[in-house]
Order: sequence, then structure tokens, then C-alpha cells
Amino acid sequence: MPKKTIVVDYRACEPEKCEDGICQAALVCEKKILTQEALYEMPDTKAAMCLSCAVCVQACPNNAVHLM
Ligand code: SF4
Ligand code: SF4
Repeated sequence: MPKKTIVVDYRACEPEKCEDGICQAALVCEKKILTQEALYEMPDTKAAMCLSCAVCVQACPNNAVHLM
């Protein structure tokens, strides 16, 4: 079975609802797979490097980050 990797559901992502516009999922990813260019922007992903640890999934208050 292929390894699960991180996917951001951009329909559910609402950075304006995250504390000070900081992507909580990007904040907790130690590998910097999820990155946020600027406050109040949606995060980018480098999914191929994802460890599938799911820490970011738990951190997103909008349930916008998934392992698939
Ligand atoms: S924590 Fe979730 S809702 Fe907030 S910016 Fe990141 S992906 Fe979007
Ligand atoms: S699953 Fe882990 S390694 Fe992958 S993006 Fe989320 S926090 Fe980073």
C-alpha cells in the first residue's frame, strides 16, 4: 500500500480563523513539509517528504489537513 501523505483541503482552510493568521499545522511540522509564506495565507506542501506523523492533522482547527 502506498505511503499516506499530507493533503490540504483548501476549501476548508481558513487562515483568518487561525491564531494571528498563523497556520497551526505549518507551525507544528518539524520537517517543514507544510510552510506558510505569509501570515493569513494558506499553507503550501512538499508532500513527497512527509513522514505521515499526523501532528499537523491534529493541529489544524478547521480539519483542513488530511493524510491520504
Ligand atoms: S491551520 Fe488549518 S485552517 Fe489554519 S491555515 Fe493551516 S491548514 Fe488552514
Ligand atoms: S504528517 Fe508530520 S511530517 Fe507530514 S506534514 Fe504533517 S507534521 Fe509534517
